[in-house]
Amino acid sequence: MSGRATIALIGMRGAGKTTVGRALAELLAVPFVDLDESTLAWARRVGVRAGDVGELLVRVGGWTFRRMEAQALRALLEPCQRLVVATGGGTVEDADARAWLRRAARVVWLRADPARLAERIGSDPTSRPALDGRDTLAEIPTVLARREPIYASLAEVVVDSAAGPPEEIAARIREAL
Ligand code: ADP
Ligand code: MG
Repeated sequence: MSGRATIALIGMRGAGKTTVGRALAELLAVPFVDLDESTLAWARRVGVRAGDVGELLVRVGGWTFRRMEAQALRALLEPCQRLVVATGGGTVEDADARAWLRRAARVVWLRADPARLAERIGSDPTSRPALDGRDTLAEIPTVLARREPIYASLAEVVVDSAAGPPEEIAARIREAL
């Protein structure tokens, strides 16, 4: 396999990275990994136990969380494995994470508008505090405005996350890659 065997899905929380990532992995018959799970496992190895990434974020703080996430991402990307990785919404805010995505992944941006994100986050049971201390739903436009240029600069493929059911979006991604 060439240098970029891993497919990484990026995009805001609620865009459908986990759901579509799983469908895409199935379609391509490769393993699926959710970076949230890898980050939790990474944290456990250094003695920090948390039930989900929201709890981990609160426990260690935003800076340490991003470092742990970037390390977990590197461990996934460095071996050049054929797999699909769903990243976290804020993963791309870390410079090392961006560098690894550029170097070792085919990056797909699942794009979604604020209303759709609010709707999907509303039905997600994971405790996830707002990063700027405000309400999670209220911060969506601000966070989206900050991240959109980053997502755009990293993505080789951009897919509208409202284009249909997860399997349909997965099929579009396979075509585009
Ligand atoms: P992310 O991993 O990007 O945070 P998820 O995959 O957890 O997003 O999806 C967030 C919510 O949106 C879930 O309830 C999921 O079932 C739903 N969802 C994701 N993709 C789609 C889709 N293409 N159509 C309808 N609902 C979707
Ligand atoms: Mg997810």
